[in-house]
Amino acid sequence: MSRFLSKKHASLVPYTPGEQPRERLVKLNTNESPFPPPASVCAAAEEAAKNLQLYNDPECRALTDAWCELTGLSREQVIFTNGSDEVLNYAFLAFCDDAHPAVFPDITYGFYKVFAAVNGVPYEEIPLAEDLTVRVEDYLSIHKPIFLANPNAPSGIALPLSDVERIVASNPDTPVVIDEAYVDFGGESAVSLIGKYDNLLVTQTFSKSRSMAGARLGIGIASPALIRDLATIKYSTNPYNVNAMTQAAGRAMLLCEAEVRERCKRIIETREWTARELTALGFTLTPSKTNFLFARHPRLSGEKLYTALRARGILVRHFSSERIAAYNRITVGSRADMEKLVAAAREILEQQ
Ligand SMILES: *Cc1c(COP(=O)(O)O)cnc(C)c1O
Repeated sequence: MSRFLSKKHASLVPYTPGEQPRERLVKLNTNESPFPPPASVCAAAEEAAKNLQLYNDPECRALTDAWCELTGLSREQVIFTNGSDEVLNYAFLAFCDDAHPAVFPDITYGFYKVFAAVNGVPYEEIPLAEDLTVRVEDYLSIHKPIFLANPNAPSGIALPLSDVERIVASNPDTPVVIDEAYVDFGGESAVSLIGKYDNLLVTQTFSKSRSMAGARLGIGIASPALIRDLATIKYSTNPYNVNAMTQAAGRAMLLCEAEVRERCKRIIETREWTARELTALGFTLTPSKTNFLFARHPRLSGEKLYTALRARGILVRHFSSERIAAYNRITVGSRADMEKLVAAAREILEQQ
């Protein structure tokens, strides 16, 4: 830390992104898609690159039109951002303050805490139940801004839409943010409730199901007034937040919806296959509705498994936080990668 860093950031602990290794590893640590983007998406990005001397469209109009065409939403109900991390940060900035502390589960996306801290916003963590499910009653009528990943991470567990609706309906005077980064792998989206509740913000991303993690594209979906608040933050920080190549690639990706659905289906099948294999090896898994599995073994600590897999060229994600230290989060990659993972886990257990 230099002597110039503001005191308000002196104790800031930044988010630790999953490792992006330089060596060739089977990479199952950051929930990326195993599929590269379709050729038409890369071509669109390349075409857009020819005009990089110009500023990109701050309103993302072509992309927004494509999204509205696909979803039936209106332009006033959506905002595109530099990854969904950015729209989540906007939500902390826009809706939370000393009188409105952010509320989220004790075990969830690690970035929420960091967004609160960097923005000087107080937050309260509500413990998940013993089985790592969200206890819906804990969020009813609490009248504070709520951030819920659904499905949750790293547990992979999804709340049914009816429970999300109870939470949204019982907190009409505060925003409820539903982070749907993984919704395409078996969750129920709350986008269908947008017209009914003006306090609901749903965030989604092109990073997981849409194979565009490196392009950074996220979206916020909410009532027009709430979207305007987020736009105020955007135009007060970085109006050109979604670069030209990403806008073009995102639009092209929205024309590949059938392909995206098919890919998600394959990932779900691979997830279920891997879950059966790991269960047969004695692992305990949470019921995942995402593109990752959250697994622990009675005879092997989470850290030991992480290290032993890494020594065999397989990278997964281990979190040291006490309640989940026994687990590893394993991205569902290609079937071939998952076969390598299962074989390595079997070998590690045999050598115990
Ligand atoms: C991956 C992830 C995000 C953010 O993804 P972006 O790449 O910033 O769009 C947000 N929330 C959760 C729970 C995630 O796992």
